Amino acid sequence: MTESPPTMRTRIADCLTKVAPGTIVDVRGWVRTRRESKQEFAFIELNDGSSFHSLQVVADKSIPDYETLIKLVQTGASVAVVGELKESPAKGQKVELHAQSLKVLGQADAAKYPLQKKGHSFEFLREKAHLRPRTNTFGAMARVRNAICHAIHCYFQQRGFLYVHAPIISTSDCEGAGHMFQVTTLDLAKLAQLQQSKGTGASPSGAPTASMEIDYTKDFFGKKAGLTVSGQLEAEIFACSVGDCYTFGPTFRAENSNTTRHLAEFWMIEPEMPFYELEDNMALAEDFVRTVIKEVMAKCPDDLQFFNDRIEPTLLASLENISGNDFIKLTYTEAVDILLKSGQTFEYPVAWGKDLQSEHERFLTEQHFKQPVILTDYPREIKSFYMRANDDGKTVRAMDVLVPRIGEIIGGSQREERHDVLIQRMQECGLDPADYWWYLELREYGTVPHSGFGLGLERTVQLITGMQNIRDCIPFPRTPKSADF
Ligand code: ATP
Ligand code: MG
Repeated sequence: MTESPPTMRTRIADCLTKVAPGTIVDVRGWVRTRRESKQEFAFIELNDGSSFHSLQVVADKSIPDYETLIKLVQTGASVAVVGELKESPAKGQKVELHAQSLKVLGQADAAKYPLQKKGHSFEFLREKAHLRPRTNTFGAMARVRNAICHAIHCYFQQRGFLYVHAPIISTSDCEGAGHMFQVTTLDLAKLAQLQQSKGTGASPSGAPTASMEIDYTKDFFGKKAGLTVSGQLEAEIFACSVGDCYTFGPTFRAENSNTTRHLAEFWMIEPEMPFYELEDNMALAEDFVRTVIKEVMAKCPDDLQFFNDRIEPTLLASLENISGNDFIKLTYTEAVDILLKSGQTFEYPVAWGKDLQSEHERFLTEQHFKQPVILTDYPREIKSFYMRANDDGKTVRAMDVLVPRIGEIIGGSQREERHDVLIQRMQECGLDPADYWWYLELREYGTVPHSGFGLGLERTVQLITGMQNIRDCIPFPRTPKSADF
């Protein structure tokens, strides 16, 4: 892209990389630091978020009103500078801006400014989510997250996948795990009153009991509704009509897991492909992850170098390794065998039939294989109803992609396309087939083998930035007891 936005302003990223020295530019941003030298001139580090590096502005007495203005140029203040870009004699920067005029757009009291130079803990910064994007780490996170999203869309668009918007409000619980946030316009205060006046209607915890059935026909949608936990079922509808497609949207899970890998609101990318069997699905998932990493490495070298230097010293080496080598593929059963024979003591014991925990996934990817791993054919009891049943009667065609430092980043499967088997699986999972009549009809009219998977965006940001906590990989994290900003 060569066209500039409709403003005279030049982005700092462009000043540092594209604009020729000698050009007069108009730059605007926030002051990171100001150093004065013998009252004669000052260096101002200006950042506008467009690049990791700030632009050094040199301001001196030739600027109208210099003495008064320079006192207002404090850390956190916003300023506009017009001046000439010149080659810089200083080390570590190619250009600097020699100011001809300076305007303070918004003052800031540097003594009170919450972001002090000393650096802050990530916990502290989460409480300052309105200002943390101005720090090196969160500016870099925002740019890397953006680059990941761009790479994801490009990946699918270049391959002819259709971008499908799945609904956010849903009446089906895709994972069948009951972790939905309820959406209702029923008057909860009235229900509580009713509960009190009846006296017996509630359990000691206050939760309604069976004797206090709620009439959802009176609710907004005429039935119980919630925020979607996955767009997969809707993606399947489109895949079985228009072909390869993907969703990219927010998903919500009211699971009370206070871990560094779970959010209550996160973004998921869910491609769904007709005529794909599990092997095709695995090949796509691997190529997808590796390609996205490569693109982001090419697009954000400064940001990733920062994460490597300051956050996770193995980051760049691990990204090279993941993007440059084939993933290991094995079955869940083989993985359980490796874990059992590993001689490791895990917090959660390993046994065939139990779900793998993050510690097990990390052992496989960090210590045993030292590479990403795709595990397939999980026990049917621990996986969702829609995964295609294997003939052994014990496992399903599931695939999880596990990566170092995180564990599961993708969950996917070949879908059950056989009408009778699907009904049987729903009943096994305690679901009422009548609730999924439309999903079943896809298997009645022109059913096809098909597959898909879900990639968690924030876990991908975690992987590519090396950030420890998923709460620092989304602008405004939502977790149990926390939804500020
Ligand atoms: P986990 O076992 O790690 O809780 P899951 O098996 O419940 O994950 P899936 O339902 O398979 O997750 O969802 C697909 C992907 O979405 C996961 O591989 C992960 O990358 C991401 N994901 C799932 N739950 C969360 C969450 N609570 N917060 C952030 N990302 C999530
Ligand atoms: Mg999963």
